[in-house]
Amino acid sequence: SVDKERANNVAKIKVVVRKRPLNRKEKTKKEDDIITIEPNSDALTVHETKLKVDLTEYMEKHEFVFDAVLDEGVSNDEVYAETVQPIVPLIFQRTKATCFAYGQTGSGKTYTMQPLPIKASQDILRLMIHTYRNQGFQLFVSFFEIYGGKLFDLLNDRKKLCMREDGKQQVCIVGLQEYRVFDVETIRELIERGNATRSTGTTGANEESSRSHAILQLVIKRSADGSESKPARVVGKLSFIDLAGSERGADTTDNDKQTRMEGAEINKSLLALKECIRALDSDQGHIPFRGSKLTEVLRDSFVGNSRTVMISCISPSSGSCEHTLNTLRYADRYE
Ligand code: ADP
Ligand code: MG
Repeated sequence: SVDKERANNVAKIKVVVRKRPLNRKEKTKKEDDIITIEPNSDALTVHETKLKVDLTEYMEKHEFVFDAVLDEGVSNDEVYAETVQPIVPLIFQRTKATCFAYGQTGSGKTYTMQPLPIKASQDILRLMIHTYRNQGFQLFVSFFEIYGGKLFDLLNDRKKLCMREDGKQQVCIVGLQEYRVFDVETIRELIERGNATRSTGTTGANEESSRSHAILQLVIKRSADGSESKPARVVGKLSFIDLAGSERGADTTDNDKQTRMEGAEINKSLLALKECIRALDSDQGHIPFRGSKLTEVLRDSFVGNSRTVMISCISPSSGSCEHTLNTLRYADRYE
């Protein structure tokens, strides 16, 4: 069928890099833009300044190739079209899809992720009204975070949650608030509320939120006969994950015990995620999702008919060179 063919044309895994513009602070500090992207190319080059033993500077170039490379002029609409939009129709056909934003704090993860579920739900609702009219599909949204290996509901006063497996490879998060939604405005409000709940730190929004993974899920359900009176079951799922700042995984030698423990947990989860994606990519049967809370929560999105999009966000500035290279190496499928 046409639908099946379309499904097969959407890659199982897609890795995209997004470069943000230099910000005012970086410009004030006269930092250079060290990332070049040729127009209409899937490659980018990092120009790293290094020092010889006699302290003269030299330039080392690092070239990377990805499924897509999005330059600083690319809009959020274009990011959506390139990443999530092709997947949306598939979740009406039992697909579970996940979109990650990876990168150091300040690289643009939240800027990139925040609009995506709003645009996706707009398309989902459109499909429900037009293509799947009167077929009884229902749309739900939930939003929670993983902080220090524990789950907290972002749409219910950060209530602590726990996870259970139902033996049929379905993940169940006990007590997680799920809102049924009928319009995009409600989704927008819920996302804003969740993001505000996320950043409770006294040290500034980015400080605190950079240590947690935020997971927003759009779930499509339907009852056996499509009626509203029977219990609805999950048909497909679209998860949006704003990952903890990648540099936080290195906070394992910090003097503060809490920070050190969180750093270790973040490091573990980002490594486990990379392992799972690697296993998916090589069509390996066994997915090592038990490595962390993050991958356990996403377990049902790694098995069966799944799609994964990784958006790696990078800063263009010379001051971020080391973090940028780490991000690009993490995102590199062949690394
Ligand atoms: P992160 O979530 O990775 O810590 P943010 O998304 O909060 O980073 O981005 C840091 C700052 O940079 C924010 O002020 C954001 O508005 C800005 N920014 C990020 N990406 C872009 C972009 N592509 N274009 C313009 N501004 C951006
Ligand atoms: Mg953020």
